[in-house]
Amino acid sequence: MSKHTYAPESLMMSFGYKPELSEGAIKSPIFQTSTFVFKTAEEGKAYFELAYGLRDKAQHEELGLIYSRINNPNLEILENRLCLWDKAEDCAVFESGMSAISTVLLEFLKPGDLLLFSSPVYGGTDHFIHHFLPKIGVEALAFDANDSYEDIVQRVQTSGKANRLAMIYAETPANPTNAIIDIECCRKVADIFGTQDQRVHVAIDNTYMGPLWSHPLQHGADIVIYSATKYIGGHSDLIAGAVLGNAAVMQRVRVLRTFLGNMASPNTCWLLLRSLETLKVRMEQQMRNAKVVAQMLANHPKVERVHYLGLLEPDSQQYALYQKQYNAPGAMISFDIQGGEAQAFQFLNHLRLFKLAVSLGSTEGLAQHPATMTHAGVDSATKQKMGISSQLIRLSIGVENAEDILWDIGQALEQVDLPTEALPKVEAMVV
Ligand SMILES: *Cc1c(COP(=O)(O)O)cnc(C)c1O
Repeated sequence: MSKHTYAPESLMMSFGYKPELSEGAIKSPIFQTSTFVFKTAEEGKAYFELAYGLRDKAQHEELGLIYSRINNPNLEILENRLCLWDKAEDCAVFESGMSAISTVLLEFLKPGDLLLFSSPVYGGTDHFIHHFLPKIGVEALAFDANDSYEDIVQRVQTSGKANRLAMIYAETPANPTNAIIDIECCRKVADIFGTQDQRVHVAIDNTYMGPLWSHPLQHGADIVIYSATKYIGGHSDLIAGAVLGNAAVMQRVRVLRTFLGNMASPNTCWLLLRSLETLKVRMEQQMRNAKVVAQMLANHPKVERVHYLGLLEPDSQQYALYQKQYNAPGAMISFDIQGGEAQAFQFLNHLRLFKLAVSLGSTEGLAQHPATMTHAGVDSATKQKMGISSQLIRLSIGVENAEDILWDIGQALEQVDLPTEALPKVEAMVV
């Protein structure tokens, strides 16, 4: 028989699950249990030795089931399947994206350290960096998509804390502007300030593009983080997060998760296993729909500018980076409507198929106004610098019929009254 390696989408229905251990059930039952019965006292002792790192694993030895804060079949099957997309050695699933992010930051930063992070980041992450990390003596320094390698290196050098740089944290593409950060550049910066004994870890929030369209570990990242609430869950019915990386990094993340106790529940894991079976078809349909929506918006007279990776200028630097780092433009679109908040709100209030809600990556289309909703807490100077204006609207494209999506956006735009100075000139319309 010839050797064959299955693609991740072919393994999402069965990988890591043995029906014979569950009465032949084709799908994993929900293991709604807090603890697991050891066959013998010797077995319990052996499991604890591994769980607490008291000795190394023997060849082919696996950690047995102990207690659902440490491990559970639903959690383990889910983690094994998530590893396939990013070709990661290990994965840990959390009860939210924020618990995944905060656990990583707490594990790899200590008092006196410096964190370098990309701006803008998700509002919750921004809050944790600016309001919690200072309490434990961690300083943070921002950079953005416009900064070159030299700019970033200089900023770290002049911070006075170059020898305490401990982590580079980047969210790319940035929410809500789709600005992209060069992961290989982050790796290079990390390596000039890190040493063999003191590695500067690079962590990437890949929620916008993963796990299908971008694989940060292959570009030099040490850690990939997801809000699994978004594309991975994909149905707006759960909150979860995930962290992936090599075995050594993940051992540290897992141990802290065990003691913070912020792992996902068996029920949430079971829902995510179901979501993963359709992950690729959902995301691809969302991306196909997004491409036609972006094109339609780009040609619409009431739209000033569209921020979509599929519309980058082919001779721009961002396009070259896009080609290197991503294999599709994704399904998140932002656009500047002509006018301001009044016009943006008129558009949002007239949508019928789209739901007016935050979050993203779900089967249904979602629309929101970043300046007054997801990014309401960001200071106005940063908002202005990042282009998060009162005109900006963010769309998360769903799996609905493309004609229906176009119809909905078209009819909502039609009902927007432009401010008089923004109306196209009559002569211009005639020619
Ligand atoms: C939603 C989101 C998070 C936070 O995840 P939760 O699951 O809501 O805790 C983090 N990063 C990005 C990019 C997100 O979109």
